[in-house]
Amino acid sequence: MYEKPGVPPTFIHRRSADGRGRWTRRLLVAVMAIAVAAGLCSAAFALSARWTDPVASGWWGTTGHTVGVGDGVVPDGGRLSPRDTGLPAIANLDPKLLRAVRKAADDASRDGIGIYLTSGWRSKAYQQRLLDEAIVKYGSEREARRYVDTPERSHHVTGQAVDIGPTDADDWLARHGTAYGLCQTYANEMWHFELTITPGGTCPTPLTDATDG
Ligand SMILES: [Zn+2]
Repeated sequence: MYEKPGVPPTFIHRRSADGRGRWTRRLLVAVMAIAVAAGLCSAAFALSARWTDPVASGWWGTTGHTVGVGDGVVPDGGRLSPRDTGLPAIANLDPKLLRAVRKAADDASRDGIGIYLTSGWRSKAYQQRLLDEAIVKYGSEREARRYVDTPERSHHVTGQAVDIGPTDADDWLARHGTAYGLCQTYANEMWHFELTITPGGTCPTPLTDATDG
């Protein structure tokens, strides 16, 4: 006999059942903890991927500084809403410029046009990186400077310039931008706008390119 003398069989049975229940509960808690941890890990991974990808990873400036979202790199296909202030490319823009772009975007959307930023504020390191890339692409600094300004001169670095897309948004802003004070600055960059005039004024003739003026 396995029953202890003096202990009713039903009591032993109940204790044993309670023991199993406790272990089942412990197992459930452990499984749930693992599931929560896995969920947190995947969320953290997704978040870190968003903040380092796609252009950011492996982008090294001449100073050896890795260029990422914190430098104004625009992730995920290069389209930002002017209301996406969670990203430094937007958050570090001149507030007056950002207000003008938002107002224009609201009005453009009534015409069925979506205005997005493909670039906004950039750190000096990011601007230098873009210039380095352009020098490789165009073969000389002189030619590269027609498309990408130096960190010292670029109005993206001071938060006073935005690049707008897609093309129909550039067309819309070229036609209606003066109402918001927004002008196309360079003839060879139809996407580059700055808050150049008081709303309702007339935009000056665009410079030929970034080396002009
Ligand atoms: Zn630009």
